[in-house]
Amino acid sequence: RFEAVDHKPLGGPFKIEAAYRGDTSEDKVNLGIGAYRDDAGQPWLLPSVAEAKKRMDLPSCTHEYSPLHGLDAFIEPARRLVFGAELDPEIAPFVASMQTVSGTGANSIIAKFLARWIQPQQIWLPAQTWDNHPHIWRQNAPAIQVRDYPYYDQKTCSLDFAGLMATLERDAKEGDAILLHACAHNPTGIDPTENQWKDIALLCEKKRMFVVFDSAYQGFASGNLDKDAWSIRHFATHPDLEFAVCQSFSKNLGLYGERVGALHIVTSRNATPSVALAIRSQLVEIHRGEVSIAPAFGARVATTVLTSEEIFSQWLEDLVLMSGRIKAMRQALYDELVALGTPGSWKHVVEQTGMFSYTGLSTDQVTVMQEKFHIYMLPTGRISICGLRDANVKYVARAIDNVVRE
Ligand code: PMP
Repeated sequence: RFEAVDHKPLGGPFKIEAAYRGDTSEDKVNLGIGAYRDDAGQPWLLPSVAEAKKRMDLPSCTHEYSPLHGLDAFIEPARRLVFGAELDPEIAPFVASMQTVSGTGANSIIAKFLARWIQPQQIWLPAQTWDNHPHIWRQNAPAIQVRDYPYYDQKTCSLDFAGLMATLERDAKEGDAILLHACAHNPTGIDPTENQWKDIALLCEKKRMFVVFDSAYQGFASGNLDKDAWSIRHFATHPDLEFAVCQSFSKNLGLYGERVGALHIVTSRNATPSVALAIRSQLVEIHRGEVSIAPAFGARVATTVLTSEEIFSQWLEDLVLMSGRIKAMRQALYDELVALGTPGSWKHVVEQTGMFSYTGLSTDQVTVMQEKFHIYMLPTGRISICGLRDANVKYVARAIDNVVRE
């Protein structure tokens, strides 16, 4: 009966990871990785998270169900983190929030919710985006057509802002949905400037588009929680703009496997707060049919970090350390390439932000990097800066130099 089931090969980063694991070379380097690594190439337990777990008295923690919408003790500080202490009290009555199975869960639930209640004709994704985005929308909202807007300009290795605006202006229909990466765009590492964000917000308002912010890197990108939430908070200054925030704590708290996240839907600030309550009840309804209730343990760890002043200060230091190591590795790679006189401009490596960098290497060059040098990255030329460390950055730079000259 199951003979017709096709084998689905691994895609994207998972395929690279499998190939890397199977490589026995001592020189091998994994630049496909989607998680932070320390300078020894190891996963890093954040000291703030370690301290939170100590304080939680783990042996006596029970394992009760959370309420259907999640733990309020987690959701409230999570929402405050997005909107900031100043804006949060003002906006909170208009926000429908629930705990989700990390950022992926939040993305899936908003897709399902929009399909059921708003029915936009199209969802606009950046032409380069996290490879799960199109998958999530097609799977959860098949009636909504997935479109893409220009994002990355191959020639200049920067944002194709003119293309982005012109395409949306021309082809987005009133009421369409659009996905924006709040900061540290995955995979390009390129974000709009503040002025560009302002223009995008005006366009979304004019077209009455429903904005879905994917916020997977707050604090992890720049080391500053407020800076990384600037785009979202700016959109919140438009009282008629309605938008969602898919919030993940995988990267900024290193809680990858615990699946900690939230979905916040901001209704018009001219609506009555009962609208937000109705929305939350419908989110809960959808979530119940999917996973019932989001996992509690990681959310409790996050709550402890977010609500204890002392641990929170430690967390700020952890964020600076992680983002600082990433920036230092960008600089080290850039310096090596410049020292080698590698043809082309490599400035984009230091100008991009967050975990990922679009190197500009072609798919063929990526193949050579893998076959000749045992360096693994996505076929698009995306590297995870977290895979770089003092011990391998020279080797990676020499390999890039080699393939570029070939
Ligand atoms: N959005 C983006 C842009 C991401 O890069 C990621 C992680 N790769 C996620 C969402 C979701 O991650 P998680 O489900 O672990 O929160």
